[in-house]
Amino acid sequence: MEDRDLDPATLTVHAGRGGSQPGDPMNVPVTFASAYRAEGAVSYAREGNPSWTAFEDAVGVLEGGSALAFASGMGAISAVLEGLPVGAAVVCPRDSYLGTRRYLAEAEERGRLRARLVDIADTEATLTACDGSALLWVESPTNPLLAIADLPALCQGAHQLGIPVVVDNTFATPLLQRPLDADADVVVHSVTKFLSGHSDVVLGVAVTRDPARLAGLAARRSLIGAIPGPMETYLALRGLRTLDVRMERAQANAGELARRLEAHPAVHLVRYPGLPDDPGHTRAAKQMRGFGAVLSLEVAGGRAAADAVCSAVRVMMSATSLGGVETTIERRGRWAGEEAIPESLLRISVGCESVEDLWNDLARALETTQ
Ligand SMILES: *Cc1c(COP(=O)(O)O)cnc(C)c1O
Repeated sequence: MEDRDLDPATLTVHAGRGGSQPGDPMNVPVTFASAYRAEGAVSYAREGNPSWTAFEDAVGVLEGGSALAFASGMGAISAVLEGLPVGAAVVCPRDSYLGTRRYLAEAEERGRLRARLVDIADTEATLTACDGSALLWVESPTNPLLAIADLPALCQGAHQLGIPVVVDNTFATPLLQRPLDADADVVVHSVTKFLSGHSDVVLGVAVTRDPARLAGLAARRSLIGAIPGPMETYLALRGLRTLDVRMERAQANAGELARRLEAHPAVHLVRYPGLPDDPGHTRAAKQMRGFGAVLSLEVAGGRAAADAVCSAVRVMMSATSLGGVETTIERRGRWAGEEAIPESLLRISVGCESVEDLWNDLARALETTQ
């Protein structure tokens, strides 16, 4: 059976297993080596490692392209952006991941790049900003406002202007959306989040179908030196094996919490594309296989009340980051650079706990604010 005939749930379990000969191990072993004996395909370990390859094979199959692992999500993101010429303009969502915006702001200060920040849900405004730019950077859903970009329309419009499109697919994962199928040129992930799934790894990946882009990114990975550790790629692949079951549970939990939160008197607004009245709902229902496991809410009592909720939760963990089996809650506005985010906004990365335990915990924490 060819890989393409298999369901993604099966691929998460079976892709990247290495050899198929009698006696081969079921998992590609972790290879700790800085150099290999001469005359082989790879001589120095900044160029390649069998543990990276196993992970890259699996992500490549899931996204429908060829993957390169990086030391972190930011390693993958900066390798893509470093490929742009000096002075190039990058169109980027105003509410994209903070690190991506910080990278662009810092590059702009040095005259290296220029950032054009847009509302990525507004296709027309985004494509207008693309005119004269060198790259369209898309995140969908965005972190943390959960805005949904029209991926096929943006890819088509940008390509008409001769501009490549990169999609940060961290929130959706390849199980919910495959941007390369919508004609995106590159997909990046913070593997740190859902793909590895256990909050014990920092890792990134970039995926493309274009051999020239792939070669360019591989060369840059080696030159910048943002290479993953073999143990990290092993752990990430081990985590990836359960991506489908984790997403199924976490996403169901997120949907249930979002519905209940909408009716809670201490909540001003819930942002979750799975809610029928969410501004991104129709688009997400059309282009995604599910609505994901991250939701945001604005607490009616404002900033202090939102902080109080984070202090009061006992099952949910008050912590940054997302995509783990455990639920994390954070007031995003506490970070410098997130001033555009409503002060009372809490981002919740919903995990795999019992939904009733999560609800009881959150409802009790919200009641402390009333
Ligand atoms: C966390 C995150 C990143 C950065 O990834 P790191 O692994 O922390 O370097 C990039 N994009 C999104 C959407 C993220 O949530």
